[in-house]
This record gives sequence, structure tokens and C-alpha cells, in this order.
Amino acid sequence: MSLNLSNNYQALGSSFSEQTLPAPVAQPSLLLWNETLAKTLTIPFSQDNDAELIAQYFSGNKLIDGSKPIAQAYSGHQFGHFNPQLGDGRAHLLGDIADIQGQRWDIQLKGSGVSSFSRQGDGRCALGPALREYIMSEAMFALGVPTTRCLAVVTTGECVYRERPYEGAVVTRVAASHIRVGTFQYFASRGDTDSLKRLINYAINRHFPELRVEEKTPTTVDLVDKATANEISSEQVLKFFSAVLSKQVPLVLSWSRVGFIHGVMNTDNTTISGETIDYGPCAMMNSYDADTVFSSIDRNGRYAFGKQIGIMQWNMTRLAETLLPLVASDEDDAVEKIEPLLTQFHQDLQQGNLIMMAAKIGIDEPEQGDAQLINDLLGIMQKQKLDYTQTFAALTGSLNKNKIDETIIAALNEWLPRWNTRIEPFKAAAHQLMVKTNPMVIPRNHHVEALLDACQETGDLTALNKFLAVLRQPYTETQETKHYQDSPVDGDKNYHTYCGT
Ligand code: AMP
Ligand code: MG
Ligand code: MG
Repeated sequence: MSLNLSNNYQALGSSFSEQTLPAPVAQPSLLLWNETLAKTLTIPFSQDNDAELIAQYFSGNKLIDGSKPIAQAYSGHQFGHFNPQLGDGRAHLLGDIADIQGQRWDIQLKGSGVSSFSRQGDGRCALGPALREYIMSEAMFALGVPTTRCLAVVTTGECVYRERPYEGAVVTRVAASHIRVGTFQYFASRGDTDSLKRLINYAINRHFPELRVEEKTPTTVDLVDKATANEISSEQVLKFFSAVLSKQVPLVLSWSRVGFIHGVMNTDNTTISGETIDYGPCAMMNSYDADTVFSSIDRNGRYAFGKQIGIMQWNMTRLAETLLPLVASDEDDAVEKIEPLLTQFHQDLQQGNLIMMAAKIGIDEPEQGDAQLINDLLGIMQKQKLDYTQTFAALTGSLNKNKIDETIIAALNEWLPRWNTRIEPFKAAAHQLMVKTNPMVIPRNHHVEALLDACQETGDLTALNKFLAVLRQPYTETQETKHYQDSPVDGDKNYHTYCGT
């Protein structure tokens, strides 16, 4: 099979990655195939006609023509501690492919075997987490959150041993790129300035072509012009950093908007393209509480719901540090040049957060007093343990006479008159704005887990596909939606998520 795959990242050179082949699996069998994503990537396969071929190629058993698989090198701060040597320990980047609009996407297998970056790991992935990544990323995409996506889930016919044996799977991930803050840290911590410059030029070509200095656009086979790969001015580096920051604002704010808790915002899990990556320990918030944490290893709540904006600033400060030597030879000068960008980032996040939260209550242009109105609402929600998604859905519905949720509205009775006065002059517009800002349905933890259990027990995907169909229209209420809107009876108080399963 030929997919017009290019190997642009592999072409950057051996300091960036290790060439290594996926390890074949015993009995690949296709479980999920993302037909719409396949179409936009011009991959001419359908689950009905090509299941066996898809299973061969997207398990790593067969190599797509032209693919030179690699494991990418990166470092990262894990829970605040720097680990100089991470890298793809169970993933293979097969190459990159252009979609119908010409944008390039990485095609990566995950669970496809070990590399020199695997350390103690087995290079494999269990079916549950693979299905979970597929469901969560599809839901996030439909919610309008920037995210990596899944193209396929293939079972391997092999066991993966965790605390007990599980069925194994390979998941195919599609991303604008897999360049992480940790990729920059990898070269910076080794003092490899040449590679760092190459990486920035590559990232500019791939993500921010408007920043290119040269008139000439790079060819698809070589995204970085060899002659200029190691040249970059300090102005370009600052522009690049600023462009990366601008991608992170809509990312974290949309997490806040839908109640998503990433769970492991280590710098190796932070892409410079501003896409959600690493769905391992993520979860959705139920009742509103900024301190909500589900990840079993996040004991200090470093990555709690309400900390995510601050952590993104911390992560971007780590990225800034890697760029300092390219900004000025004197460190103080470099800091002086880069700090205003971080200050601006902070302001953009604060302002963006106010605009996003105001939109959730129907206000398009926040004014003096609106921050207080929002904080008071959140205060009541926290005190009364009101469900985040349900509350904003109820407020949206309250502007539509047919859809009033009496229980939630009663809980907000002291706050409602203030809100009603504020939006009275533009109620219809407020309703419209709220309808597109507040999801009616999210991938609730208890529904996701119940479906994963059912799929793994019976192998029947009917219920999962029904759920996916609802999650793909999160702003529309249909007959089906109501089956998935309930909050968990126990508030998910014993729910825990895990990282590397
Ligand atoms: P994560 O916690 O998912 O961000 O992963 C951190 C690091 O552990 C990355 O370098 C992964 O490639 C590696 N890793 C996670 N699970 C495995 C596994 N089962 N086998 C090998 N490496 C792994
Ligand atoms: Mg990771
Ligand atoms: Mg992970």
C-alpha cells in the first residue's frame, strides 16, 4: 500500500530519533476504524472492505510503502522533575501524510513494540486504554477542543501483562506533529544548539509557515531546507515562541470550558502545536470543584482542574528556557527579551478565561462586574456540588421555555435574578452563544468505563458505537443524548485513572 507518506522528521537526522521497526503481533484484528478521519487523510480504506489489510498495516505487521518508522527522542519534566531521557518507548512514527487541504499529519502507532527509549516498559498497550483514547479524543474533537485523534484500534491477539493479563492493542494516532516541549528540552539539556535550530525551522515550516523568511516553500519530501536548517535569527525564535504560546491559549481554555482534566501535563505531554495529547489518566469533572483530581499518581494535585492554566504557563516557561541561548548570547539580555512574551501569555489566558466563562453564561463582551457574576456562580456550584456540565446546560435551557431543569434552577435562585438582569437586553443572542459554548453531553467517566468493560467482556461494539454517535454531536440534544447526561451516583469519589497502561 502506498499512502504518499513522507518521512520528514526522520530526515532531520539521527540526533532526533532512532530508526526502529514495529514488532509484529500474533493476530491483528481491526476493531475501530475512523472512516471520516481516513477520508480527510485520503486513505482509501473502508472497514467493510479492507478490515484485514487495515489490521496488517495499523498493527505494524506490514510496512506502508515508503515508511521509515522511527521512535522520537525527547526529555521532559514529569511532575516537576526533569527526566533527560524519555522518548517513544512504545510508539512508532510511520511518517507524515497530507490531508485534502495539504496540511501534513503524523501517523503514529502506539503499543507497537519497544525501542531504545523503552526503559523497563514492554512497548505494548492494553485494549482498554486504546479504546479509551479513541472515545475521549473523538469526543474532544467534536467538542471543538484541539486534539490528536485516533485513526484505528487493532487488537493484537496477544496478552499485555499489567496487574493481570489484558488483551493487547495497537492504536494509530494522528497529530499535527508530535513535537513536544520535551523535544526542545532534549536538545537544550545536551547543549545541542544546531539540532535545536533545526527543530525550530522544522516546526516553523510545519506549523507556522507564515513565519518563514524565505519565499520558497519547502518541498514535501524535505520540510527543512538543508542549506538553511541550522540558521535562525533571534527575531525568528521570538516570533516562533510567541506563535507556540498563541496555540496553547485556546487549548487550555477549551479544557476549562468542557470540564476536561488532562491529568498528566508533563512537558513531554505538551505539544507545541497546541493539541491535546496523552489521554492516559484524563477524566471529566462532574460537580464543580477546581481541586478535582482523578489520576492515581497525582497525589499532590499538581494537575488538578483549576491548576491547568498555571501549569501551562509553567510548561511554557520551561520551553522559553530552552530558547534563551538562541535569543541572545548574554542570558540576562535573552531573559529580558523573552519575559514580555510570557507576561503577554499570562494576560491572554486571564482575558481569554473571562471571555470563555462569560460566553458560558451568554455574555459576548464581558464588562465590569461580570467576573464577579461568574465567580459567584462558581462559588454556589462548588458549595452545592452542582454538576458543571448540567448546570450550564440548565442555564442554557432556562432561556428556552420548553427546557427548564427545575432542580438546578432552584439551587441558583439567589444568583439568577442578577444574571437575568444582565442578559435581558440580548436574551436571544445570549441563548445562541450558550448553545454553542455549553455541551449537552460529555464523555462522562462512568459511561466510558461501563462501555469499556462491556466491550472487553463481550467484544460487542454496538453500545460503544451508539455512544460515539452521541458524543459526535455534543451541542445537540437528541432522543439518545439523555442516556449519557447523568452524573455518577457516587460523584466518582472512588474513581481513579492510571498513566501507562
Ligand atoms: P507517559 O506517562 O505516557 O507520558 O509516558 C512516559 C514515558 O514512558 C514515555 O517515554 C513513554 O514512551 C514511556 N512508556 C509508557 N508506557 C510504556 C510501555 N508500556 N513500554 C515502554 N515505554 C512506555
Ligand atoms: Mg506521554
Ligand atoms: Mg501516556
